[in-house]
Amino acid sequence: MKLSKMLAIKKELEEIIKNAGRIPDGLRVAIPPHDAYELSQGLQIQLVALGEAARCDLKLRQAQVALDQIVRGDYERCLACDGLKGEKRIDAVPYSPFCVRCQELLDGHQLEGFEHLAAA
Ligand SMILES: [Zn+2]
Repeated sequence: MKLSKMLAIKKELEEIIKNAGRIPDGLRVAIPPHDAYELSQGLQIQLVALGEAARCDLKLRQAQVALDQIVRGDYERCLACDGLKGEKRIDAVPYSPFCVRCQELLDGHQLEGFEHLAAA
């Protein structure tokens, strides 16, 4: 991988880490609600926000590991199987420390030892 591309990915990972925990303005809830409809709408928005927060938390944890991989010099390798992640995978999900195959195993709860980097 070219150094310029690696530096661009490093910058992208640092941005993910820097922006972690921020709630997008569109997900802020008007409180207190004036009626049941507003309460229902507010709860739905909060559920969306919670889901988004969980996704951001996972992305943050994975980005921190991927950044460590860059520092160690093994970013292009899968954290689980040590095979190459592949350029398409890196382009699609630069913050993932896993190859497609291992990510699928992790998503299916069939990859042990990396549960802290899996979706709940
Ligand atoms: Zn793998």
